[in-house]
Amino acid sequence: MIEVKEPKRRIPLIGTIRGLGTVGKYVFKKPVTVQYPEERQVLPDRFRFRIFLNLDECVGCTLCEQVCPNQSISMQKVERENPRNKRKIYPDVNFGTCTVCRNCQEICPTEAIYLTKEFETSRTRNSFTYSPEELAMKENEVIK
Ligand code: SF4
Ligand code: SF4
Repeated sequence: MIEVKEPKRRIPLIGTIRGLGTVGKYVFKKPVTVQYPEERQVLPDRFRFRIFLNLDECVGCTLCEQVCPNQSISMQKVERENPRNKRKIYPDVNFGTCTVCRNCQEICPTEAIYLTKEFETSRTRNSFTYSPEELAMKENEVIK
């Protein structure tokens, strides 16, 4: 024979009181939300994101492309005079897949590619890839 259990009796208002208790715990605490962009958090010293490229220092060795674990870098031909970069190839970076591991900066023999504290890289076009020329620009000069 199957035993049918009686449902537990609910005490009226207990749930409401518990809920109010939880709200009460937080109501006088300072909110953690920052009203960005009017307010900005102080970034940690070691925070890094947007990658920059010094076109004059890049020798087109492709090491950054090879070391990137996410294939976020590919080399592009750029027609510009640079006696150190005979093949005229420079890296672009896809920030949609970049995990900010900094491998590219670490391996670059000329310190041409480096990560910075810049993080406001919102876009209106459906591409997160920065061309070599865009990597060399300040963020507010890049057409988005
Ligand atoms: S950015 Fe540095 S590692 Fe990458 S191709 Fe240029 S010189 Fe080589
Ligand atoms: S930071 Fe890392 S993931 Fe991003 S482009 Fe450089 S090597 Fe690739």
